[in-house]
Amino acid sequence: TSDMKVGIIGSGLIGQSWAMLFASAGYQVGIYDVEIEQVKKALQNIEQQLLDLEEQGLLRGNLNKQEQRERIAAASTIGDCVKGAFYIQECVPERLDIKKGVWGEVDKIVNVDVIMASSSSSLLPSKISDNLKHRNRFVVSHPTNPPFYAPLVEIIPAPWTDDDVVPTTKSLLERIGQVPVVLKKEIDGFVLNRIQYSIIGEAWRLINDDIISAEDLDKVMSTGLGVRYAFMGPLETAYLNADGMKSYIERYAEMIYRIQTSFGQPLPMGGKTGDKIQKELESYVCPVERVTERRQWRDKRLAALAKLKKEM
Ligand code: NAD
Repeated sequence: TSDMKVGIIGSGLIGQSWAMLFASAGYQVGIYDVEIEQVKKALQNIEQQLLDLEEQGLLRGNLNKQEQRERIAAASTIGDCVKGAFYIQECVPERLDIKKGVWGEVDKIVNVDVIMASSSSSLLPSKISDNLKHRNRFVVSHPTNPPFYAPLVEIIPAPWTDDDVVPTTKSLLERIGQVPVVLKKEIDGFVLNRIQYSIIGEAWRLINDDIISAEDLDKVMSTGLGVRYAFMGPLETAYLNADGMKSYIERYAEMIYRIQTSFGQPLPMGGKTGDKIQKELESYVCPVERVTERRQWRDKRLAALAKLKKEM
C-alpha cells in the first residue's frame, strides 16, 4: 500500500478522519479544501488527534504517529488531490449543488477505473452522480461519527454502479480497520438513519403522550437497550433471548405485531413537545453553551468503549 494514493476532498471533521484512517493503513493521502486555511488547520488537528490516540493506546495499524502523519499531504488544487489516486473520498458539505460541482470537476480528470466515493449521510448516490461520465464508478461510503470509535461504514451503490466497485470498496475499508456494510440498493435515509429515526419517532411519541420523561427515556437506551447494542444487533439479541429465531417468533411475534401496529403515523418533531424535551435536556445533560465540554465527555467514553472492544 505504501505507494498507493487516496484523494480526500474537503478537510472538515469527516475529511480529517478519513485521511487519518487511510494513512494508518499505509496509504498516501492527498487532502484538498476550497479554504486553503482550513487544510492547514486540518493538518494541525490531525497531529493533535494522532497524539491523543497514541496516548490512549488507540493508534491504528503498524506505523508510528510520525509515519502516519507523513503520509498525509495537503493538495493545493483538486487536480493535485485526485492525481494518481485509485480511490477518492469526497467530504464536502451535505448539499447536492456543492457535491455535484465537486464531482463534475473530478469527473473530467480521473481514470476510468478509479473509485469515486461520497461521504454523504443522506443524498442518494443516483442523485449525486446522474450526470457524470464516470458514474459507473460512483458509490456512497457513509461513515459514522466519530469514525475512529464507531467504525461502521454504509456502502450504497447507484443503479449504474459497476459490479466490482462495491466489493473493492468493501475490502479497502476492511483493510483500514473500518466495518463496511453493503446496501444492495439505495433507499432514503440508508439503513443507520432509518433505524435511528424510528427510535427517535417512538421516543417522541412516548414523551408527547406523557408516558415517560425525556431523562428516563434516554436511560432506557443508555442503561438498557444500548448496553446490549454495543456488542450485538437486535436480531442476534432476539435469537439469544429465545432458543433461536423460530422460537422467538413462536413466543413473541404476535405481541410484537400488536404493539407495532399501535405506533401509528409519525409525529412531526417540534411544537410543545420539542420545547419540553429541550428544557429537560438542558437540566439533565447541560445548558447548550456547554455542549462542547459534554462532547469531550462523550468522546472519552466512546474511546474507552472502543478500547474495550479492541481488547476483547
Ligand atoms: P464540515 O463542514 O466539517 O467539512 C466540510 C469541508 O468541505 C469544509 O472544510 C469546507 O471548507 C469544505 N468544502 C466546501 N466546499 C468545498 C468544495 N467545493 N471543494 C472542496 N472542499 C469544500 O463537514 P463534515 O461534518 O466533515 O461533513 C462532510 C460530509 O460527511 C457531509 O456529506 C456529511 O453529511 C458527511 N457525514 C458527516 C458526519 C458527521 O457526523 N459530521 C457523519 C457522516 C457523514
